[in-house]
Amino acid sequence: MKTYDVAIVGGGIIGGSVAYELGQRGLRVAILDRRELMREASWAAAGMLSPAPNCSAAFPLVPLGRAGLALYPQFIGTVEEASGLRTGYRAGGAIEIIRHGDAERELSTLVALHHGLGLGCEPLRLDEARAMEPALGRDARAAALLPDECSVDPRALAGAVLSAAVSVGVTLRPGVEAISLAIEADKCVGVKTASGETFHAAHVVLAAGCWSSQIPEAAPYAQTFPVRGQIAVLRHCGTPIRHVLRSEHVYLVPRNLESPQTVIVGSTLEHAGYEKRVTSGGLEKILAAANELVPELAHAEIVETWCGLRPGTPDQLPILGSANIEGLVFATGHYRNGILLAPITAKLVGEWIAERRTSFSWEAFSPLRFRRENNDRSANT
Ligand SMILES: Cc1cc2nc3c(=O)[nH]c(=O)nc-3n(C[C@H](O)[C@H](O)[C@H](O)COP(=O)(O)OP(=O)(O)OC[C@H]3O[C@@H](n4cnc5c(N)ncnc54)[C@H](O)[C@@H]3O)c2cc1C
Repeated sequence: MKTYDVAIVGGGIIGGSVAYELGQRGLRVAILDRRELMREASWAAAGMLSPAPNCSAAFPLVPLGRAGLALYPQFIGTVEEASGLRTGYRAGGAIEIIRHGDAERELSTLVALHHGLGLGCEPLRLDEARAMEPALGRDARAAALLPDECSVDPRALAGAVLSAAVSVGVTLRPGVEAISLAIEADKCVGVKTASGETFHAAHVVLAAGCWSSQIPEAAPYAQTFPVRGQIAVLRHCGTPIRHVLRSEHVYLVPRNLESPQTVIVGSTLEHAGYEKRVTSGGLEKILAAANELVPELAHAEIVETWCGLRPGTPDQLPILGSANIEGLVFATGHYRNGILLAPITAKLVGEWIAERRTSFSWEAFSPLRFRRENNDRSANT
């Protein structure tokens, strides 16, 4: 019989970061992953650290995203020190390019929206934008600098987080699939695995990404589903791109600033079930948009392609905190922002488990919100 203070289901960036936080607090922690750890969405991410909302549904997430971004330098510092590994963390801002429509009006809406949400956003004249990014295409019509945004290399971060977690005593259990929760008298007391083992734990953290909804007892609360994203990695010897560049249909994330330069190009948003497949149509979309944004990239070599499954949720918000099953904490549904939100999620889950309080209100992300909605619907029928 295996007994821990905390069993974490899912060894992605969320499970790994939570484990490191809890290990630092002196708890005995095990991460169970049905595969190798850190090989799913967290492996596939581009690594932008952007609290900017991409639609109005994401507005409630902005304060959490800002808190997450503010924690990053300290998080990176401790993870790099504990692991002795680098994470590719890079500050310096992102540039948003508007290429279509009434660009001046769109720019003032963008700036006003960001300021209203407490996010830095400075309009740039096109000559200023070109001075900052000489490779920018001629059809850019307006630009804004988001000075506080950063980026990280998610694969490097993933390795560093796992190594940091191990350094504080966390047990990693790859190849262990959770099939259900062990519930006794309405209390979660552990995790049952596909091989018939039970991991007993005072607390269970569900961090199984888009697969969280496959754990039967958690499914009513963790209504996650997969949203596929495809990525192409380019290497080019042209003018280096210095900032994260974003436009309507594409983003470019430079991994280094020298020539030859590696640039991550992303990404599609597809509802294609759990099928992980890079498609010609998906790549065509992102590469065409990348070549329009920075025409020199048409000469770049495609060095790698991949896709991953983001943990989507019905309202596009993460699922954080406890429901009405004692001993169970949800840390899932981070959709497009799991890399950004890993440190703040880890901090809040750590506070909740160790101190039964959180320093930031996570009520808006409560797993109970889906049950409330279902109850409201049945009361109205
Ligand atoms: C193409 C793409 C680009 C992205 N870009 C960004 C970005 O720029 N910035 C950003 O912040 N976010 C980005 N994201 C989102 C981010 O990657 C995710 O939100 C984040 O990785 C989610 O982490 P996770 O740990 O919850 O899930 P995952 O990394 O998917 O990990 C879940 C883990 O749970 C395991 N698991 C599942 N079921 C079980 C089970 N039954 N038993 C045991 N283990 C199980 C899986 O094997 C997996 O290892 C991107 C995502 C994609 C796909």
